Amino acid sequence: MGLDDDMDDTQVLPQGAPASDRRDRAVRAAVEQGLVGPDAPLAGLLDVTGIRAGAAALRAAFDEVTAPGTPVLHAFAVKATPLVPVLRLLHDAGIGAEVASPGELALARAAGIPPAHTVLDSPAKTPAELREALALGIAVNADNAQELARIDALVQSAPTGSPLGIRVNPQVGGGAIEALSTATATSKFGVPLLDEGAREWVVRAYLDRPWLTRLHAHSGSQGMPLDLLTGGVRATYELAEEINARAGRRQIDTLDIGGGLPVNFASDEESPTHAAYARLLRREVPGLFDGRYGLVTEFGRSLLAKHGTLLARVEYVKSAGGRGIALTHAGVQVATRTVYAPEAWPLRIAAYDAKGRPKSGPAVGQDIAGPACFAGDLLARDRPLPPLEQGDYVAVLDTGAYYFAHHYSYNSLARPGIHGFAADPDPGAGGAVRFSVVRAPQRVEEIVAESGGATRDALREL
Ligand SMILES: *Cc1c(COP(=O)(O)O)cnc(C)c1O
Repeated sequence: MGLDDDMDDTQVLPQGAPASDRRDRAVRAAVEQGLVGPDAPLAGLLDVTGIRAGAAALRAAFDEVTAPGTPVLHAFAVKATPLVPVLRLLHDAGIGAEVASPGELALARAAGIPPAHTVLDSPAKTPAELREALALGIAVNADNAQELARIDALVQSAPTGSPLGIRVNPQVGGGAIEALSTATATSKFGVPLLDEGAREWVVRAYLDRPWLTRLHAHSGSQGMPLDLLTGGVRATYELAEEINARAGRRQIDTLDIGGGLPVNFASDEESPTHAAYARLLRREVPGLFDGRYGLVTEFGRSLLAKHGTLLARVEYVKSAGGRGIALTHAGVQVATRTVYAPEAWPLRIAAYDAKGRPKSGPAVGQDIAGPACFAGDLLARDRPLPPLEQGDYVAVLDTGAYYFAHHYSYNSLARPGIHGFAADPDPGAGGAVRFSVVRAPQRVEEIVAESGGATRDALREL
């Protein structure tokens, strides 16, 4: 299928300076304003202008391809950036929340996201979670037959306003990253549609339960080719058509097509865009957009990844075996996937000097090492960059989703502070960059408290 036709419309962010200029100015300002420095050697930065523009572009992308009046809920996958102020900002931009644990639901509620804009999907919901979701009226997608039986009991015991559906696994196959491929033959998610008898079981489940009105699939994340994602949506749509035909009415009124749009980690270009994906979906599955179905999407990485930057001070530089090594404060605690699976999760790194100005000069291969005590704690190996010096900064790019908000407590390293920023669109007009604390840096006393500091004698008394 000619995916390339739709893949060339790189998104130009409308607000003034491009994302890379905004980032450079934010790094400079973060150094000048002391957000990073000798005593705060690591911080996450979130580009509020970019997040707003990305949310608006997502909504416009689906407005363009859906029949007028089609209800569309974009539910941001909270796991991608589980930060209340981010969820709040997205809520202001008309985006809801997809949650998959009691913690994520609590974050969405703390952000003020209403139940009608919230979707609960997770493979292991407890009875209490289901009861809470149905009491609140939050949409729930049942993962499997046992969960559906629990929902049956709840629906019988109390009325609920929750839109309810089943998650299916279209088994279209896996992408480049096995761990993120949810539509393989043996994936743990949803009802495996191609297994013997499974499709008929799903159809019967709907015919027996007139209150099941949604159908859900999320076929994978980063590394999934677009034709597999599209194939998963097509299979889900065809199943909905079959169920509605056999029911003799439009029982399924909403399809939840999941998220999973891959992100380009190789340059500043946003590609593929949500607009390109939406157009591709309409071309490949036109019936989904003719107004008969409402839509739910669950994008995570593609909404936030490019709007986050991790900024780390270079504490020392050294050389070993002829290799230059920069010892920085960004490592496994904030880029866990990249450190443990560097082939699957490469990240771009930009070099800045001690004043936060972009470094130039001939590139030299250097290892960018983190602060943790194991040899593999490297964000990049032999990466060509201008020679780094003590007191410089490295910016780890595209880390707004699944990185700096996903702390891994190795070596009891503190969670970094996260700061939102907005830059005056016109650098000539003073170029002021304003920051706001999204999450305060973790203090050492908090690390002690979270590590059993209050139960110091717990083991002596056994
Ligand atoms: C993780 C997940 C998403 C979001 O995936 P992205 O690749 O971040 O867009 C959406 N839906 C479900 C059910 C998920 O598990």
